[in-house]
Amino acid sequence: MTMTSTDDATLLRDRGLRVTSARLAVLRALDGHQHSTADDVVRAVRDDLGSVSVQAVYDCLHALSAVGIVRRMEPAGHPARYERRVGDNHHHVVCRACGAVSDVDCAVGAAPCLLPSDTHGYAVDLAEVTFWGLCPACAAESAPAGEPSSNTP
Ligand SMILES: [Zn+2]
Ligand SMILES: [Zn+2]
Repeated sequence: MTMTSTDDATLLRDRGLRVTSARLAVLRALDGHQHSTADDVVRAVRDDLGSVSVQAVYDCLHALSAVGIVRRMEPAGHPARYERRVGDNHHHVVCRACGAVSDVDCAVGAAPCLLPSDTHGYAVDLAEVTFWGLCPACAAESAPAGEPSSNTP
């Protein structure tokens, strides 16, 4: 799923965005790391371009999300994450403890893969599910030592 910057430039133009080195660098940063926080992106873009303001990166992320090149998801209580995997109605599993995020493929393959028990008359076309739990690392850390994994009260 890696794209050259020529493709990215085309993508930006197709969505009516001006091609800037900052926008291209943000896209490259997200290529290398899905579900990045804005801070992660700032660090990656600085490694890439030398210097760039935090505000410039936020502006890029905002513009890219607004036209759907980048998807923004914000798990409650954790910073927003940005990713380039868009338009496939995939879901996320989030670690309640450390905020790690992983993709969960849509089980059906087309949006909305899930319908509410009552649509209240809405024409539902998207389901965005966040599964919450503990990632393997945090689960291992929080498991009491020597405790059998049966769920005896
Ligand atoms: Zn975790
Ligand atoms: Zn994702």
